[in-house]
Amino acid sequence: MGDKFAPSKGNSGSEKTRENACNNPYVENMSVTGAISESFILKFGEYRVYIISMVFLIAGAIILIYGLIKEGSQVFLLGSLFLILGCWFFILREYYLSRKCKRCGKEFAYVKTRDTEIATEVHSVDSYDYFKCKYCGQECVEKKDVTPGLQ
Ligand SMILES: [Zn+2]
Repeated sequence: MGDKFAPSKGNSGSEKTRENACNNPYVENMSVTGAISESFILKFGEYRVYIISMVFLIAGAIILIYGLIKEGSQVFLLGSLFLILGCWFFILREYYLSRKCKRCGKEFAYVKTRDTEIATEVHSVDSYDYFKCKYCGQECVEKKDVTPGLQ
């Protein structure tokens, strides 16, 4: 998963130069994942979405193994479908967790304050997303390892 939400700090000098281009308020494009996550979590609750994802993942794995043993391609496809659905629900929950404010605890509180920045190191490539809570103003940086070949 990499280290999420490292404390807000200036990174390398090359990233500082882009701050000047941020005088206009940054408006984030609403992602499909974000919109679906919000409607699902608000309807079912985070815990239920987590349970649903686990049920799909476990059922998918069992069906997939059964399909492999019985060499049934339709069973195999059904298992794959369950696994994909399980992963999808898991991603919706991950999105929810990443947007919950660490300070005031409000849901879907973090909004992006600028474009994602990519920093290329010697052995890795990291992306940095800058967020701010729209309720209490807390700022945080989400760092992700996006080195090609790791994903
Ligand atoms: Zn907050």
